[in-house]
Amino acid sequence: QRTLIWFRRDLRLFDQAALYHALKDSREVVPVFIFDRDILDDLPAQDRRVAFIHGSILELQLALRQAGGELVVRHASAPTAIVQLAREFGVDAVYTNHDYEPAAVARDEMVRGALEQAGVSFATFKDQVIFERDEILTQARGMFSVFTPYKRAWLAKLDAFYLRAYPVQRYIGSLARLPPQTVPTLTQLGFAEDTLAGLPITPGMTGGEFLVEDFRQRINRYHETRDFPGVKGPSYLSVHLRFGTVSIRELAAFAHAQGGIGAQTWLSELIWREFYQQILWHRPEVVSHAFKAEYDALPFPNKPDWFAAWCEGRTGYPIVDAAMRQLNQTGYMHNRLRMIAASFLVKDLLIDWRWGERYFAEKLIDFDLAANNGGWQWAASTGCDAQPYFRIFNPVTQSQKFDPQGRFIRRYCPELAALSDKDIHAPWQARAGVSAGNYPAPLVDHAVQREAALALFNIARVAG
Ligand code: FAD
Repeated sequence: QRTLIWFRRDLRLFDQAALYHALKDSREVVPVFIFDRDILDDLPAQDRRVAFIHGSILELQLALRQAGGELVVRHASAPTAIVQLAREFGVDAVYTNHDYEPAAVARDEMVRGALEQAGVSFATFKDQVIFERDEILTQARGMFSVFTPYKRAWLAKLDAFYLRAYPVQRYIGSLARLPPQTVPTLTQLGFAEDTLAGLPITPGMTGGEFLVEDFRQRINRYHETRDFPGVKGPSYLSVHLRFGTVSIRELAAFAHAQGGIGAQTWLSELIWREFYQQILWHRPEVVSHAFKAEYDALPFPNKPDWFAAWCEGRTGYPIVDAAMRQLNQTGYMHNRLRMIAASFLVKDLLIDWRWGERYFAEKLIDFDLAANNGGWQWAASTGCDAQPYFRIFNPVTQSQKFDPQGRFIRRYCPELAALSDKDIHAPWQARAGVSAGNYPAPLVDHAVQREAALALFNIARVAG
């Protein structure tokens, strides 16, 4: 058969499920990537993710050429383009990997229908997770909504079979020989060229491999370092996991084989990723609703000027502002800070978690619907297995605990550099005469807002 392999969030040539099956099942395989106008046309020109994808596509094209193939690239509405390409290349089948986001599920069903009408089959595969959809269920065959038992069941099911890499190389000779194809430039796609300039982000398989190698040296200390944004603790692999420039099987196998508390803690994070993916699959309504129905209509006051201050990193709480500036300047935010910044927006500024979720979705280079929604609903106490509503992060004590010398704060709030390690967490309490430059006074009083948040959640609980 002749098969078209449609690359999406799996931009690599090794251990890739759909690619492997296409090569193995076919005489000829035509690899395609579509810069999907249905998604891209709504994004701002400064979007860093498009630059990451673009860089990864250029590398993929080169790697395919070295293997004797060629990548066909289009800039169009994906469903229409796929059907057209299937016709153009006269293929019998289109292969691709599963995507669990509701919009992608709907798109893929549409594509399936259109292809089948044209006499082309559509086959999809699990690739970006170890376990998907219904593979991990409770004893009553239901979805897990609590993480710890999900993780236990996940680990109990894990064996060598699920970690085995797909040997793509074995069948690489099936790549179709095609005339050279062009990849549109970022400018031609309508995006800025230099959005990754100066950032420590290398797209593609090369960038992913470099970070994996780097993290191998640190994984044994992950459990001790992961919560401190001022030190290099985590792997920074999230953007590569998002776009599939690394293989989840390779990473999970590595962590599993490594053993020890550092690697086990890291493997747990990969399991959180799958936990939220299966929540999104089973409960797609979480995209716009609270997982816990009683918290869906919390009467948030939603002050626009407070929201703007949060977005711009000028709330007067240094750890929150440093976090938001990191996000704005680099497209990344440390996990501990995501929790602190999200909690502050919802429980100190009393702004609907969906506003913050949307802002993160726009700015994060690793934006992933399942993880972002899960993280926000966790912090807002509206989610499954979330932080209880009465447990409210104190931004000053979080700062003292996780950035004790203010190393991270000083990096992003240089106007506070002159403050002592003690004063930097709450500049308004600093000794008279110590300058905090033009750093703003705190927007709100945490103690007061804490009570207001409790009252807000209590209204919903009583009403529910
Ligand atoms: P590491 O600590 O090295 O973790 C390894 C990998 O595990 C990550 O790359 C990621 O794929 C996964 N992971 C880690 N923690 C989580 C988690 N809590 N939930 C799901 N997966 C996790 N992660 C995203 O990938 N995209 C998002 O859009 C996103 N939004 C978030 C929003 C909020 C409010 C919160 C609290 C968390 C969010 N996370 C998100 C999870 C987490 O913060 C990031 O995955 C992590 O900071 C990425 O850095 P890293 O790759 O160095 O992580």
